Amino acid sequence: MAGHEFRVFVSNDNLKFNAAHFIAYEGFREGLHGHNYRVSVQVEGQLNANGYVLDFGIVKDVAQRVCRRLNEKTLIPELSDCLEIRQAGTQIHVRYEQDEFSFPKGDVLLLPIVHSSAEELARFVLGEIRRELENDGITGITTMEVGVAETPGQTAYYREVT
Ligand code: ZN
Repeated sequence: MAGHEFRVFVSNDNLKFNAAHFIAYEGFREGLHGHNYRVSVQVEGQLNANGYVLDFGIVKDVAQRVCRRLNEKTLIPELSDCLEIRQAGTQIHVRYEQDEFSFPKGDVLLLPIVHSSAEELARFVLGEIRRELENDGITGITTMEVGVAETPGQTAYYREVT
């Protein structure tokens, strides 16, 4: 194992998204509400021939693209074990026990997660960033960590080792 790893950390005012969500599990549901989420990305790896792990600009661009997809959406965890989600025409209906929401399809983002907690959102965002970097042919990353803050001082981190 090489013992010389470098780390870049990206967190700025553009890495954010506004979204609505509610946590739901059997026997409990939050009311629909929103957050001004903030995202940070940390990447670790070997230095490449150009003297960096990964261009800061690339990390920012990719993370911003992911944030834009989440922005101004209601985030619905489609793998939830207590939400019944169905599409009818241009509407997405989400049922929890006796309560039913109806959203215009374009206002909703169905995410492959079980709960829309900051933890699971961080894992989702990391997966999206990783996929985009791979599509762009970026290699040499050994570890990536994504932080998603619901509010300042309340951040969940997800870390993945390649
Ligand atoms: Zn919340």
